[in-house]
Amino acid sequence: MSEEIVLVTGGSRGIGAATARLAGARGYRVCVNYRTDAAAAAEVVESIRSSGGTAFAVQADVSRAAEVERLFRAVDQEYGPLTALVNNAGTLEQQSRLEDLDEDRLARIWAANITGPFLCAAAAVRRMSTRHGGRGGAIVNVSSRAARLGGPNEYVDYAASKGALDTMTTGLALEVAAEGIRVNSVRPGLIHTGIHALGGEPGRVDRVGPQLPMGRGGRPEEVAESILFLLSASSSYTTGAFIDLAGGR
Ligand code: NAP
Repeated sequence: MSEEIVLVTGGSRGIGAATARLAGARGYRVCVNYRTDAAAAAEVVESIRSSGGTAFAVQADVSRAAEVERLFRAVDQEYGPLTALVNNAGTLEQQSRLEDLDEDRLARIWAANITGPFLCAAAAVRRMSTRHGGRGGAIVNVSSRAARLGGPNEYVDYAASKGALDTMTTGLALEVAAEGIRVNSVRPGLIHTGIHALGGEPGRVDRVGPQLPMGRGGRPEEVAESILFLLSASSSYTTGAFIDLAGGR
């Protein structure tokens, strides 16, 4: 039985699903977290199991502290304390200018994209840190190139939330560097997933992809490869680092 145990938040679809599948294929025991789409999560678990891997799914909204505690306790009970966390769950809303954003929308974006990764990172550190008797581990935060590009006319709120996540990557990496935990980030650009439909433009990657330096959008599997690299011993001296996956943008 593998020693490596990974929790992938938002593992039911898109980048999270590709990451969960690749982790399963690399021998990790995988917890696939999802918020609403139980069928999609079950499909990811089934595909990992049918390839000989080990996985289970847990429903939890990562922006709620009580649900995060329930999620991590489920992993403890099923596999034992985790060794890897992928803070992947995230969301965006209808494309809009900043002057049209209201308080409720801002609260939803901060909750999903900032509070969620903070709560999950805290729960992971309490289990991984040598300071708490843990055996160390690795955390990968899924940010976005938007954190640097700003998301003008589409979602400055989303971009700013990823900027906050980048600051967390830097700060937490330094905070736990001597406690056996590495904290790194990937910043995808335009990736073919369902998230763009939430912004009101499901075909966004097809529209913008040809204008990128590499002339195309990315695939979730290409992001998953970098996430697995940052989780693995192949990056054992890397912490507080960012890998941009944006086709040159
Ligand atoms: P996606 O296809 O929309 O999938 C999002 C996943 O997150 C789903 O599994 C969803 O679960 C889950 N989720 C959302 N809010 C959640 C919450 N509060 N608690 C638990 N799970 C939650 O999105 P994606 O494109 O793969 O995006 C994954 C990450 O990559 C996000 O952080 C996103 O910001 C980032 N990213 C994506 C792109 C891109 O172009 N696709 C670019 C840069 C960064 P349910 O389906 O069950 O609701």
